[in-house]
Amino acid sequence: MTDVVLITGAGIGIGRAAALAFAAAGHHVVVTDVLEPEGRAVVAEIAAAGGRAEFHRLDVRSTEAADALVADIEARHGRIDIIVANAGIAHKVPLPELSDDKWDHTLDIDLKGIFRVIRPALPGMKARRKGAIVALSSIMGVAYGWDEHVHYSAAKAGVVGLVRGLGVELARDGIRVNGVAPGYIRTAQLLSKEHSVGPDADKCGEYIPMGRIGEPEDIADVILFLASDAARYMTGQVVVVDGGLLVGRY
Ligand code: NDP
Repeated sequence: MTDVVLITGAGIGIGRAAALAFAAAGHHVVVTDVLEPEGRAVVAEIAAAGGRAEFHRLDVRSTEAADALVADIEARHGRIDIIVANAGIAHKVPLPELSDDKWDHTLDIDLKGIFRVIRPALPGMKARRKGAIVALSSIMGVAYGWDEHVHYSAAKAGVVGLVRGLGVELARDGIRVNGVAPGYIRTAQLLSKEHSVGPDADKCGEYIPMGRIGEPEDIADVILFLASDAARYMTGQVVVVDGGLLVGRY
């Protein structure tokens, strides 16, 4: 059966790859992002390949907008079956500059922004006793500390707690909640010189056991699996997808 899938931050990067993967699997994808031309381009790409998708601008900092979009999707499609809470930022901020505002900005998007899109969809998922939710954490929240990104590490560690809590509380309602913790993945976030590794990110492949950084599709396929019936007995888990980085020797 075709599922209705809501994805945040789906105009580029991992979210875009997830949108393409769900559409290729035959699902109806609601592509959302603050990046409008990019989001619309993903919908066009899906349509050109014979898939079904629609775009809506959604800034996950707005509870009102998240509530309204979920209500709109449910009114038109009758349901939301899957949520991929992917939108995130990873701003580099050295500790002396980490003001309340900067801390709040990242936590508001990377942690609360995930809860904002999930919360309004829960009554419908509970009523239908069907739902699969996948949230994006990071190896920087699961295992590593990331200097000059303390707020990001804190938010991504928070995602692990969110996934566990929701997973347990929703298990008897037929709703599964899991997460993915990517390693180094070739997206705008990683390639940003200002905030992360920069354009020569491929050099990180030297210390990744598989010998390369990840591609957005490497994460999208795991998200698709976690949202599928193949993962029907999994909930509350955050799966590391990092080419062996965390279990490596270095
Ligand atoms: P990208 O920056 O490539 O894409 C993230 C998307 O989310 C962008 O379109 C971005 O827009 C959007 N976004 C930012 N703020 C908001 C907001 N308030 N509301 C809605 N959308 C927003 O990131 P990735 O694809 O790399 O990352 C996807 C997720 O995976 C993130 O949560 C990230 O933290 C996580 N992750 C990524 C890793 C990597 O190596 N790439 C590693 C570990 C985790 P804009 O460009 O304007 O900010």
